[in-house]
Amino acid sequence: MRIVIVGYGPGGVAAAYAARMLAPESEVTVLTEERIQSHRRPGISLALEFPESTNLFIPEWSTDSLSKRKIDVIRGVSVVGGDVRSRFLDVVDSKGRSNRAEFDRLILATGGKPVVPQIPGVNLPGVFTIQTLADTRRISESLKSASPVVIVGAGFSGLETAERLRNLGKEVHLVVRSRVLRRLLEEPMSRELVARMPRDIHLHTKSPQSVAGKDHVTGLVTEDETINAGAVMFMTGVVPSVSLAQKLGLAVGPLGGVLVDTKMESSVPGVYAVGDCAEMKDTLTGKPILMPVGSAAARAGRQAGASAAGKEKVYPDVFLRLQYDRLFGVDVVCAGHSSVSAADVGVETKVTYAEDPSESMKAALVTTKEGRLIGGQVLTSRMGSVIGYQILERIQSGVTLDEQPLLKPRHERAKELLETRLGPIG
Ligand SMILES: Cc1cc2nc3c(=O)[nH]c(=O)nc-3n(C[C@H](O)[C@H](O)[C@H](O)COP(=O)(O)OP(=O)(O)OC[C@H]3O[C@@H](n4cnc5c(N)ncnc54)[C@H](O)[C@@H]3O)c2cc1C
Repeated sequence: MRIVIVGYGPGGVAAAYAARMLAPESEVTVLTEERIQSHRRPGISLALEFPESTNLFIPEWSTDSLSKRKIDVIRGVSVVGGDVRSRFLDVVDSKGRSNRAEFDRLILATGGKPVVPQIPGVNLPGVFTIQTLADTRRISESLKSASPVVIVGAGFSGLETAERLRNLGKEVHLVVRSRVLRRLLEEPMSRELVARMPRDIHLHTKSPQSVAGKDHVTGLVTEDETINAGAVMFMTGVVPSVSLAQKLGLAVGPLGGVLVDTKMESSVPGVYAVGDCAEMKDTLTGKPILMPVGSAAARAGRQAGASAAGKEKVYPDVFLRLQYDRLFGVDVVCAGHSSVSAADVGVETKVTYAEDPSESMKAALVTTKEGRLIGGQVLTSRMGSVIGYQILERIQSGVTLDEQPLLKPRHERAKELLETRLGPIG
C-alpha cells in the first residue's frame, strides 16, 4: 500500500510515524514545499534573535530519522492538483518539472496561512507575517534597522515575538483589540500575565484602522492615535490552507477547514486531513471548531496515520487542546476550554482560581455548571508543562472538583497549594 502525506509539520510527521508503525509493509512518502528540515513553529521568533539557532529543529522530525524508519521525505516540491478517484497527485519540483505521485491512501496536512486584516496599507513594504523559519530569517534581515516595531495581535506568537524584539533592543508596541490571550486565558489570568510583562513593551488596547506610509511603513493608525513604526507585524492568526483540498474536490466545512470525521477521513474515502487545514470537533459538543495548535495537529496526524493504515481505532484525545509557552520568564499553560471558548460552543462555565504567591503561581480551573473539569490555565515560574499535562489527564478522565482532587503534581508546593484549596490529594 502507498500512503502519501502532503505536509511536513507536526500533523504530517505524526501521520507518517503512525502509518509506518501500523502498516509496516506500506510505502510511506511525505511531500513538502519546504526546502529545509521540519521545525517547530512555537518559539519560531527565536530565529529573530538568533537566526542560525538549531534549537527549532526536532531530531525525530529530521529527514534522516524518518528515512531510518523507511519514510521518504521529498522536500521542495509543490502538490498542485491531482485526481483522488484515480489516486494520483500532480507534483511540481523546484526546477518547475512536473511529476505524478500515486497513492492508495492520502493524508493532507497542509497547515494554515496567516490572516491579515484587510485595512489600507497592509501591502506596504515593512509589513510582515511569520509562518515558517524561512520567513523569520528573511524578516530578521529586514528588521535590523527597523524601530519601533508594532506587533498586532497578542496570541502566543505575538507575545513571544514582542519579547524577542525587545531583547534585540527594539522599541516594541503590542496592539490588541481586547486583551492578551483572550480566547485562552480568563480575564484575571490575562491581567496577571500583563502585570508580568516588561514595562517597556508598550501595550495598546486599540483596533488597527490602517497602516501608514507611502513607499514604506511609517506607522500603524488606530482609532485615536498613530503609532510610529519602522515595521508592522501582523500576528493575527491563521486560516486553514485548503486550496489543494478544494482542487481535489474535498468538502470544506462552515469554518473553512477540510471536513473530517473522528477518523480524520474527509468526504472522499481513503483521503484524510489533519492539523491547521482541517476542521476539528469540540470535545464537549462535537461542534466544528478550528484549533490551529501544534499538539492537536500531532494527535490528529497520529489518528489519520492509524486510519490510513487500515486500523479501526479512534483515539479519544484527538480534539483536546494543550498550549504551553514560556513568556517573560513565566510558564503559560492553557489546557482544554477557557470560559470564552466554551461559551463559543454554548457551554456555561464556572471558574475557580488558586494562587501560590511564593511560587508566583496562579491557576484558573474551568468547570461546567455541573462541576466537570473542562479546562485549566496556569501561570507559574516553573514546571508549567508538567502541570499542563496533569490538567489535561484530569480533563480527559472527566473528573469534577468535588469527586476527585484535581492535580497530583510532582511539584510539592503546588500539591500543598491545591490541597489547601481543594482538599487532600490522593
Ligand atoms: C509563529 C507561530 C507560532 C506558533 N506558536 C504556537 C504555540 O505556541 N503553540 C501551539 O500549539 N501552536 C503554535 N503555532 C501553531 C502550530 O505551529 C501549528 O498549529 C502547527 O504547525 C500546525 O501543524 P500542521 O502539520 O497542520 O501544519 P504546518 O506545520 O503549518 O505544516 C504545513 C506543511 O504543509 C506543507 N504544504 C502546504 N501546502 C503544500 C502543497 N501544496 N504541496 C506541498 N507541501 C505543502 C508545508 O510546506 C508544510 O510542510 C504557532 C504557529 C506559528 C506560525
